[in-house]
This record gives sequence, structure tokens and C-alpha cells, in this order.
Amino acid sequence: MTADPDCIFCRIVKGEIPCFRVYEDDDVLGFMDINPFNEGHALAIPKAHHPDLGAIPPELAGKVAAAAVRIGRAVGEVIRPDGMNLLQANGPAAGQSVFHFHIHIFPRVEGDNAHFNWEYRPGDMERIGALAEKIAAAVRRD
Ligand code: 5GP
Ligand code: ZN
Repeated sequence: MTADPDCIFCRIVKGEIPCFRVYEDDDVLGFMDINPFNEGHALAIPKAHHPDLGAIPPELAGKVAAAAVRIGRAVGEVIRPDGMNLLQANGPAAGQSVFHFHIHIFPRVEGDNAHFNWEYRPGDMERIGALAEKIAAAVRRD
């Protein structure tokens, strides 16, 4: 399994750094975030080192997503938050700080002031349609 000795999440997978484990299977580990934005904040990661969505095989990302759904339901049952986001960041501009693919299980509390909100701005349908064609072609090539 690919690992990066300098990667904090690879070190957690290896057991070199402790974690509060909440889920484990052959490919995926789930554990609590030690800087929780709200109570119950957890992470789901592949055990293998893949920095981001550009690198991870889609099937493995699917396994991480399935684990995140299961963990999210469990967090919901235990914490009873007002809401929940599943979040996944790629690149510093998107807020990624650990470069080992991960999905945040991110419980929300009414008024918690987490900012990931945008207002609706009507798009240019011609431009959206042209982009959709290019993206669909890129998906087919993948
Ligand atoms: P990112 O900013 O890359 O989307 O999220 C990285 C997350 O990893 C952050 O929420 C941060 O709190 C968490 N994190 C960083 N180092 C550790 C660690 O050593 N243990 C745990 N459990 N979480 C960590
Ligand atoms: Zn890693």
C-alpha cells in the first residue's frame, strides 16, 4: 500500500500517531478530527496515500464516501446536530491543509457561522451548456 513517511494521515494509518478511531475496514479509516469545528467532527480517509481527487482512484474514493456516509449517520445519532456537511477539499485555495485525500464529517449547529455559503447568481446557459459538453467528454475519457 502506498504511504508517504512525511504524511500525518499515513502515520495515523500506521499507528505511529494515535487517533480516536470510529471506523475501519481493509481500505478505509475513520477517526475524530482533533481540531473539531463542532462536536462530532470526524474524518474518513483511504489507508493508501493519495493526495487529492486528482490522484485517488474513483472506486477507492467511493469506498471512502461510503464510510463517510456511515460515520455521518452515526455522528448524527450520537450528537443530534442541527445539520451535517460532508466536505472534501482539494488544494490550498479550497482549504486543503493535509494532502492525503479525506472527507470531513462536519456536524452543523444553527448559527455556527461556518462559511461555505454563496448566493444564487443566474448563470449564462450557453456557457454552462458548452462547459457541460467539455466536462462530459473528459468524464468519458477518464
Ligand atoms: P483539510 O484542511 O486538509 O481539509 O483538513 C485537514 C483536517 O485534518 C483538519 O480539520 C485538521 O484538524 C485535521 N488534522 C490535522 N492533523 C491531525 C491529526 O494529527 N490528527 C487528527 N485526528 N486530525 C488532524
Ligand atoms: Zn498520506
